[in-house]
Amino acid sequence: MAQIYDTIIIGGGPAGLSAGLYAARSRMNTLIIERAKYGGQATTTDELENYPGSIEECTGTTLSKRMKKQAEDFGTKFTKDEIVEVNLEGDVKVVKGKKETYEAKTIIIATGANPKLSGFKNETELRGKGISYCATCDADFFTDLDVAVIGGGDSAITEAIYLTKFAEKVTVVHRRDALRAAKSLQEKAFANPKIDFIWNSTVEEAVGDEILEKLILKNKLTGETSELKVDGCFVFVGYDPISSLFEGKLDMEKDYIITDEDMQTNVAGVFAAGDVRKKSLRQVITAAADGAIAATIAERYLEEHK
Ligand code: NAP
Repeated sequence: MAQIYDTIIIGGGPAGLSAGLYAARSRMNTLIIERAKYGGQATTTDELENYPGSIEECTGTTLSKRMKKQAEDFGTKFTKDEIVEVNLEGDVKVVKGKKETYEAKTIIIATGANPKLSGFKNETELRGKGISYCATCDADFFTDLDVAVIGGGDSAITEAIYLTKFAEKVTVVHRRDALRAAKSLQEKAFANPKIDFIWNSTVEEAVGDEILEKLILKNKLTGETSELKVDGCFVFVGYDPISSLFEGKLDMEKDYIITDEDMQTNVAGVFAAGDVRKKSLRQVITAAADGAIAATIAERYLEEHK
């Protein structure tokens, strides 16, 4: 255990990277710990039409790379590790990873969220064999093929539109008769000749030996089942916060960490930012804003606890 950081940021998505930028600009000794890919969920989207200024050559991946570089240029340190245990009590917080144990005076939790499973039969068995949760990662495999998209929110419709660049046909299967997605996305999707909709329907089962062959759908109004032959199925039915590490240690609601408007949790010196916290709008812009606030208030906390 070499040093005590001013702040350790757990998670390197937009919330964590933005917190890193603000913390390092304040000359806080800052470490971001990320277990997988910097940029988090933002890297799984191609178009960020609602992030201000992202109008040209700005995908989730390019924006994340720029955010990381910017934080790095100001002095944020980065490490790849998976945190398995935290002790948030006291003036020095201890964060135990698979590789190392780290210490800091403040912690900013920016662990984000994981895609939810829809819950149909064989969903897990055929994951990676036709069933995917990331269009930017896997769309290319389905060039000139037919795919289904499950869900009716911003993710489902954004990714359905993106998938039309590759697939021959995209069928959106939604459990209601109205989409939850932003109206501008709905308009784009309805106008896209490659996108079809199946309303009031859920997927009951994915069928395929080694690889997905078809989906069994159930109409929720009539109870009738039908088959949809597809080569791929992209599931976008929401996200689960990655917060199990903090269970019993921080106040939560439905697994989301509760903070005040300054991103402070109920434990002194511990902040949460981005999709892992309870809030009403989960977007890259609100994640970045959360990160900026968390780092700024963390700096204030350090000043007051010198
Ligand atoms: P979401 O808004 O929670 O939408 C989930 C969708 O999946 C809903 O349409 C829901 O149906 C459906 N659904 C939920 N469970 C299901 C199940 N078991 N089987 C079938 N369908 C199911 O999730 P999201 O679209 O991933 O978005 C998450 C957050 O990220 C939102 O705050 C969203 O605004 C944000 N986001 C924003 C953008 C953007 O602005 N460009 C892009 C992506 C995500 P019901 O409608 O019937 O509930």
